[in-house]
Amino acid sequence: MDVATARMRLESMLAQIDRSISVLRGDQDAGHDRSLADAGADLTDADRTRAMLDAAARQRTAVLAALRRIDDGGYGRCVDCGTSVPEGRLEARPEAARCVPCQARAERRR
Ligand SMILES: [Zn+2]
Repeated sequence: MDVATARMRLESMLAQIDRSISVLRGDQDAGHDRSLADAGADLTDADRTRAMLDAAARQRTAVLAALRRIDDGGYGRCVDCGTSVPEGRLEARPEAARCVPCQARAERRR
């Protein structure tokens, strides 16, 4: 995948993430307006919304970092070991910052 294609895909991902974040934030605000009597019943919904917002924020950070790597000329190389990230992996996840073994290691560290 060439860098121009990667940038295009990342930018459209970013737009999509921003849209879902504003929808999720809207849901969250709507939750606040409901009466306290409903609060207990809405707790799981609120938790789910928060979890989705967290995931969207993490994804957004990853996409922004990938766009920065495109600018720096480091896109497509693993940020940990410097080998090139396989094409198929970038096709599936254009925001991927690491090769598969380094990603697995990073996730175990978490
Ligand atoms: Zn690596």
